[in-house]
Amino acid sequence: MTTSLTTGPQARDAGALLTIDLGALCDNWRLLRGRIGGAECAAVIKADAYGIGLEPAMAALRDAGCRTFFVAHLSEAVRARTVDAAAAIYVLNGFLPDTGPVYARFNLRPILGSLPEIDEWAAFAEREPSAPPPALHVDTGMNRLGLSLEEARALSARGLPNALRPGLLMSHFAGAEDPADPITTRQVRRFEEVTRLFPGIPASLLNSSGHFLESAPAHALSRPGYALYGGNPVPGRPNPMKPVVRLEAKVLQLRTAEAGEGVGYNGRRTADGRRRLAVLSIGYADGYPRPASATDAKIAADLPAGEAIVAGRRCPFMGTVSMDLIIIDVTHVPEDEVRRGDTAILIGDGLDVDEVGQRAGTIGYEILTGLGRRHSRRYVNG
Ligand SMILES: *Cc1c(COP(=O)(O)O)cnc(C)c1O
Repeated sequence: MTTSLTTGPQARDAGALLTIDLGALCDNWRLLRGRIGGAECAAVIKADAYGIGLEPAMAALRDAGCRTFFVAHLSEAVRARTVDAAAAIYVLNGFLPDTGPVYARFNLRPILGSLPEIDEWAAFAEREPSAPPPALHVDTGMNRLGLSLEEARALSARGLPNALRPGLLMSHFAGAEDPADPITTRQVRRFEEVTRLFPGIPASLLNSSGHFLESAPAHALSRPGYALYGGNPVPGRPNPMKPVVRLEAKVLQLRTAEAGEGVGYNGRRTADGRRRLAVLSIGYADGYPRPASATDAKIAADLPAGEAIVAGRRCPFMGTVSMDLIIIDVTHVPEDEVRRGDTAILIGDGLDVDEVGQRAGTIGYEILTGLGRRHSRRYVNG
């Protein structure tokens, strides 16, 4: 394992350690690229590359051969431009008034998803011949961003404004991770119509899960995000992706709670016997969600709660997740295998981001994008 970069506090001074495997990130990109025939595989690096760090993630993917990147905000696109002077960089959240000069100056591509955006960009591109090619976004069933099918048909019938010259035509899946959801087939069919409405423009439909659908064509370009970062694009089936993120927190104290005593704020979890506890230096201020708390009420209702791994053993959370601390039950870990200053694993060794999300009542995407700023971050390769 070669260390390429450390950011944030140094490991000695930090409560928790985040290790990000850029080699695994690139392997994941190559695996996805291998699933789309000869189409181009882009990378979605919005939200600080799903929490792992936009600049290191983009630089690694660029070196692996990725040429096209998607971010959500214009400010993220400006950051991305400093990493790669040549890449195609698209802004998913679209074109806001008065931002044209920033797009032109940094050669960034807006994704236009409404008629006002299209009109404004066309007017801007008319005045500014160096304006980069935008993408056209058509909604095929999500009701989020994008032209409606009716608007797309009308636009196609009257012809695109001359100055527009789109470089990409796209739509986005609403539920591709669930192969049983009929919306996906409908979206694929509607997008086929969209590509016929605007012939000759390279098209893009697939998100991470889309790469694993039997019946969705790859078109010219795919746009994976989550799977690049180790998230499972096929929930319920074995995860084909390599883990990218490992999160460990330091054990601050070991202590004992007697039977019947409450643990943590408001004593929400009762020790059901003599319990040995470890107190970990991580909490919700570090992006670890408070809904992963383990309370008597949740355990009685058989609801999932957080877990950590100590010396290879799963250890349940005890009580509420506090701002800077999490208490876990280490009664079943041999005494000499957990000491003050050791680390417990919060993400890694089979406790993957999807499971952490599920145990916290959310999704792995939110776990990744919430990864805290107080961790000592180490970027490794392999
Ligand atoms: C976030 C996003 C993606 C990537 O989705 P994943 O599920 O993370 O692969 C692709 N396209 C659009 C429009 C997005 O907003």
